Amino acid sequence: MSETRGPAVPLRMRDVTVRYGELAALRDLSLDVRAGEFVALAGPNGSGKTTLLRVLLGFLSPASGRAELLGEDIERIPIRERARRVAWVPQEESPRDDVPIFEYVLYGRHSHLGRLESESSRDRALAMEMLASVGLADRAGDGILSISGGERQRAILARALAQEAPVLLLDEPTSHLDIGHQLDLLERVRSLSHDRGVTVVAALHDLNLAARFADRIVVLSHGRLYADGTPSSILSEELLARVWGVAADLRRDPRTGAPYLLPHRVLPSGPPPTNGFAAGPVHVVGGGGAASPTLRRLVDEGFVVSAGALHLLDTDTETAEALGVPSAVEIPFAPLGPEVRARHRELLGAARAIVVTAFAVGPSNLANLEDVVPFVDRTPTFVLERPAAPPWDFTAGAATRLVDEIRSGGGRSVASVDELVDRLRVALGLPRSSAGPSPAAATG
Ligand code: ADP
Ligand code: MG
Repeated sequence: MSETRGPAVPLRMRDVTVRYGELAALRDLSLDVRAGEFVALAGPNGSGKTTLLRVLLGFLSPASGRAELLGEDIERIPIRERARRVAWVPQEESPRDDVPIFEYVLYGRHSHLGRLESESSRDRALAMEMLASVGLADRAGDGILSISGGERQRAILARALAQEAPVLLLDEPTSHLDIGHQLDLLERVRSLSHDRGVTVVAALHDLNLAARFADRIVVLSHGRLYADGTPSSILSEELLARVWGVAADLRRDPRTGAPYLLPHRVLPSGPPPTNGFAAGPVHVVGGGGAASPTLRRLVDEGFVVSAGALHLLDTDTETAEALGVPSAVEIPFAPLGPEVRARHRELLGAARAIVVTAFAVGPSNLANLEDVVPFVDRTPTFVLERPAAPPWDFTAGAATRLVDEIRSGGGRSVASVDELVDRLRVALGLPRSSAGPSPAAATG
């Protein structure tokens, strides 16, 4: 407790974006963790928990933003020094060799040893103590590969504890444990943070366990920070509905007053695609691939997006599907039929902003522009400027007249996707992006 004041914040992330190819697994994420704090990372599968931990370990480079460990850029810290500062409990680890558990735990001491130095009796005593603390003392000689998954998970924890690092990161450390060992592990981790000032970040998929043990819960949704606060300020029926798509009742433990959620069913609609903030929906009209860069960028920026009307097998349709963007879709090459147009108008009607991309217009998709016209005077509408070449109007002028009508009805021209994002932020009352466009999406 006396050690909680240090010169540097143990863990700090600023506007971190991480990409796996086109997918942004973390978006503009900022987070500070104070010394001795126990933070639980919660969020559905795929929300970015493991990615966040891997950034804090220096295993992954952010596309933008920075991550610091005890005041230093993580990636600049030499590996050995990192291991002195951070202990890591991965979700799964398949050791290659069937070494005795004791030796495996002793590896945790290696970051403290000089190059040619071997373990001291203190190192060995500490390894044994940690093994005992996870209830594996009598298994010290068993091979790490010959024990159960739950036992291995505890051995991995013992190895991490033997590192005696000021920061401990854990990825779903309870996934293989029975309930008794889950409680035991979380008790142990909590006492490390509360009694020894160790800074802990643990991805925990069980929100109730997180609420019971952690000081603070950080909820991720689609790679964004959705909520951050004490368990009692975080847990709510609305949270479970919005982030997990599950209906639940909020209850209180009669003995402790601590909140917990009693989930009872999956909502028919699933979780709404809010990407962590409710900006939108923004409806994007396109086709032939013209809408794809806009769709990707808007999803990346965290807008809720819809698209249409498109044709099956079209590049834009594939992009929309890959991004999980709802759209109205017609069979290939057919003119947009009444059902598809009705769905398109429904999406237009639900939108808080409309974007008309510079798509090629022929007889089969002219109705896209016709459908937009009645919405222009009630919904902010943006029209991406069209280059002089190549030609795009294959309707003998009808499409050009409709675009003019959209503009004269209030549609605002935008020259680039960057400008579009800025104007959308203003139109939807969001703060202007401080970081500017991300490098991967910048158009120059
Ligand atoms: P969580 O731990 O919350 O389940 P992850 O951080 O593992 O989430 O994943 C976040 C997103 O990044 C997911 O959509 C996942 O499919 C994707 N992802 C994770 N790792 C990789 C990878 N190595 N390559 C490509 N995509 C990945
Ligand atoms: Mg994970």
